[in-house]
Amino acid sequence: MDYNILVNKKHPLPANYKLENLIPIPNTYDFNHGIKIPTRVNAVVYDNFQKLCEISRMNLVITSAHRSPVGQAVIGLELIAKNGLGIRKQIAIPGTSEHHTGLAIDTYKIVDGEAKKLTEEDAWELYRISIENDLGFIYRYPKEKESITEIPNEPWHMRYVDPSVAKILYENNIALEEYHENKEKYEPKTR
Ligand SMILES: [Zn+2]
Repeated sequence: MDYNILVNKKHPLPANYKLENLIPIPNTYDFNHGIKIPTRVNAVVYDNFQKLCEISRMNLVITSAHRSPVGQAVIGLELIAKNGLGIRKQIAIPGTSEHHTGLAIDTYKIVDGEAKKLTEEDAWELYRISIENDLGFIYRYPKEKESITEIPNEPWHMRYVDPSVAKILYENNIALEEYHENKEKYEPKTR
């Protein structure tokens, strides 16, 4: 399975994409949008997320993970009904969200029993811990990369990639888009 797949506005989910190894996450609640979303996630991602919680000692919860293109459309309509059309820009067009892959998760932290949004500092800290422990999570949409990812800063959104690739992204300070554009440059020159 290709853990490094790029899905964005220019690279929609391939029609033949095979979802693999999805497991359900019970009682998922999207604090950000105030809606309940039954969601599933890739089992490897879930295991490593548990490790990330343990090592970081942050009480993290997954609020949204896999979303099908149809599910994405439904959520989009719910959010518009709840918040008005102004929220459209914050909702990925069905087919272009990396949540379709089962490899991306949105998280909140629970502090004193209250759900809080992750800050940029939290996101960078979790990224660093993930690299140090080969967990594969990247800070996918930092502010600095908005012009490349075309997604506004989202500290709560984590993406899983091969841990070796996560390391390349971290060490070169590049977004997944930049890695895909110039793989030869970044791949270790072995063999
Ligand atoms: Zn997300």
